[in-house]
Amino acid sequence: MKVPFLDLGAATRELRSQIGAAGQRVIDSGWYVGGPELEAFEQDYAAYCQVDHCVGVGNGLDALTLALRAMDVGPGDEVIVASNGYIATLLAVSMTGATPVPVDPDPATHNLDPTRVEAAISPRTRVILPTHLYGQPADLDALLAIARAHELRLLEDGAQAHGASYKGRRVGAHGDAVTWSFYPSKNLGALGDGGAVTTNDAALAKRIRTLGNYGSATRYVNDERGVNSRLDPLHAAVLRAKLPHLDEWNNRRRGIAGRYLAAFTGMGIGLPQVPEWAGPAWHLFVVTLTDRDAVQARLRAAGVETLIHYPIPPHRQKAYAHLGLPAGSFPIAEQLASQVLSLPIGPQMSDAQAEWVIAAVREAV
Ligand SMILES: *Cc1c(COP(=O)(O)O)cnc(C)c1O
Repeated sequence: MKVPFLDLGAATRELRSQIGAAGQRVIDSGWYVGGPELEAFEQDYAAYCQVDHCVGVGNGLDALTLALRAMDVGPGDEVIVASNGYIATLLAVSMTGATPVPVDPDPATHNLDPTRVEAAISPRTRVILPTHLYGQPADLDALLAIARAHELRLLEDGAQAHGASYKGRRVGAHGDAVTWSFYPSKNLGALGDGGAVTTNDAALAKRIRTLGNYGSATRYVNDERGVNSRLDPLHAAVLRAKLPHLDEWNNRRRGIAGRYLAAFTGMGIGLPQVPEWAGPAWHLFVVTLTDRDAVQARLRAAGVETLIHYPIPPHRQKAYAHLGLPAGSFPIAEQLASQVLSLPIGPQMSDAQAEWVIAAVREAV
């Protein structure tokens, strides 16, 4: 048997007729940028996230960049991020001209560690930017308390967390805003690039929309130097067709995660730790292994495709050499990068495939 890491074609085929009809509707409508399909998706997704506003943008990186700009983050400012995770979070900070300030994660949850944040706050800090990594919500109440005490904004990177919940409430705007990516492999994915920001702050939503539309709220009147970053109606229509299935898909992910957790307990594998307040979206199922590379090779030989999220921490990338953060600066992030392994998980995975992965992992470790 072969188990691919994720089968995106299967996800699309499952809703073939709905997705086809959505595309045809846009083709026939004559609206190819903005318009009613986009507005309808923004309303649907805001309702799903239990927030007042959703603004569609071009992708997840733009969602972060525009949200930071709308929070007046710019040159000379600092933004606190986790030292592990995907580089987009840091790139967005850099794109505003501000400096990302990494903080080591909690080794149990791999998420930004609230107990380490305060030491990283300086007079230049403007925003705390946690990622809900792997679809596991960060500890938002603890981070919010720190943000409020220091008069900072809390912006959440929700690119991996569609449908996740924190203390029983959907991720959507516990902080000031949440950014989303609809990259095809995310839990809610388009047929190309897409993104959004959700927030309960009407002024922030308006500014993000304006910045993503050339800095123009009124046609041909430009109040600031914006960019072109919009969610295409074609993608909005596809996302609208998929959204009613997201909870069911996340349930299936949870089922696979439950099987893995039960099967791998007591085997000396580092398993995902789920705090009692967390309702994870199980975007990824990430284990830690001291002999990760050897195990990955054995799994590959057994037909099980795995990935590493992520092999090099952002501060060790050439792109961030100028920060001058040598090896050893963030020991937890560096150790995780050498040990993490993502097992296949996805809504279209069969029981037989999950059992195959379990058997292969038992053999491989
Ligand atoms: C995917 C992802 C992004 C970037 O999203 P794009 O739509 O690819 O620009 C940002 N942050 C995290 C955590 C992601 O997983």
